[in-house]
Amino acid sequence: MPAAALTPDILAKYEPVIGLEVHVQLLTETKIFCGCANKFGSDPNTNICPVCIGLPGALPVLNAKAVEFATLASLALNCTVNSRSIFARKNYFYPDLPKGYQISQYDKPIAEHGFIEVPTANGSTKKIGITRLHMEEDAGKSIHDGFSDSAKRTYLDLNRCGTPLCEIVSDPDIRTPDEAFEYLTRLKEILLYTGVSDCNMEEGSLRCDANVSVRPRGQEKFGTKAEVKNVNSFKFIRAALEYEIERQIELIESGGRVAQETRLWNADEGRTYSMRSKEQAHDYRYFPEPDLPPLVLTAEFLNAKQRELPELPEARRARMIADYDLNEKDARTLTASREFADRFEAAARTAKNPRRVANILLSEIGGRLNALGLDQNESPVSMAGIVLAADLLENGAISSKQLKGLLDIAFDKREDFPAVYEREKPQQITDTSAIETMIDEVIAANPKQVEQYRAGKTTLAGFFVGQVMKASKGQANPALLNQLVTKKLEG
Ligand SMILES: [Zn+2]
Repeated sequence: MPAAALTPDILAKYEPVIGLEVHVQLLTETKIFCGCANKFGSDPNTNICPVCIGLPGALPVLNAKAVEFATLASLALNCTVNSRSIFARKNYFYPDLPKGYQISQYDKPIAEHGFIEVPTANGSTKKIGITRLHMEEDAGKSIHDGFSDSAKRTYLDLNRCGTPLCEIVSDPDIRTPDEAFEYLTRLKEILLYTGVSDCNMEEGSLRCDANVSVRPRGQEKFGTKAEVKNVNSFKFIRAALEYEIERQIELIESGGRVAQETRLWNADEGRTYSMRSKEQAHDYRYFPEPDLPPLVLTAEFLNAKQRELPELPEARRARMIADYDLNEKDARTLTASREFADRFEAAARTAKNPRRVANILLSEIGGRLNALGLDQNESPVSMAGIVLAADLLENGAISSKQLKGLLDIAFDKREDFPAVYEREKPQQITDTSAIETMIDEVIAANPKQVEQYRAGKTTLAGFFVGQVMKASKGQANPALLNQLVTKKLEG
């Protein structure tokens, strides 16, 4: 259905309402209810045991590490962690769920009432509520293609059965596809900082379903929602939501009704398709899991986890903006991952002037990496190399022009800065009389500027420094040069 007939006026009459459900696999060594390895990419059906493939009589034992990770995630997302939560059986039949039920949490999840703050278009922030975070086990995988008889058969890999998951459900607070994108970006960043998941979307460690409906602006009651599944990147989720919002508005405008259904995103065609109607919605017949006692968390445990929380991305950015004199965009670059921010700060603290380290990293290194299409991890110049460069600049041993030249060589030969500096150590003119001679020549050639300087326009000192630096081919010692130029002009 082409959405071309929708004018901005018509679109503006409607308000989208979006809620997101995110599944995150936890980075535990073993599965949530048994001792099998929790590992992606093993040969099919090698990390399985009677518990995770649901053989009769096998009993689940809750993995303490999974509880710790779920608690950390909950606290980082500003949730209230319940001191008592209940595991429940969610009953349904599917070939990749051999038990016939999934152990999940239902009316008593581990955490509720959290929020994430996202930036808005007008520069302020908006709180998106988190309804709940609950723990559950993942199901196995049905493999529908890749085999010679795939046309007739479906293969099963049960390695994923029992992988620990957190499901994070947002309130229906999201109003635009951009807000959904921001929410997911923040959520992923926070989870990565806490270290509970690798959030690798290609490997399915982070999966997102979106509920979306539209309603006439001003109307309180929600419209009928569709659930969009099978979207494997944040960009595609934004695109799927944009498509789905227009599809629903067009349907209503042409006198139709939105059906409550599950729709799949097709990235190649850039549209969603109806997968199944919710008319025959599942009745999961939830009931408390009889093989697991209630999960009870003590105040001591919760306090310990609270103390374990790292400085979270938003707080860290605010502090680093102040500490290193950064703008918002640069702070975002430096805090893109906790590991990178840690490496930067550990290095910066050892430098004479930490702000210089930030500066070289962002402008000189960042610019060269961009030009080559390289990632920060692929930089030939180490953090220690940047610190050396910053210190050399700081005490005037090299000029910024010389630094640029040395970094060009480092990137050219893919060598770290200290090695390049040792070999190419730029000649510096530190002979006072040689520099004075050059200054005299520049002064003689620019009588007008000298006059202006002496009439009070002292900012012109920079002009003379620049001219002499040029004449010295960038080799004059900058500190000495500055000092001598002022002396000559004043004299
Ligand atoms: Zn197992």
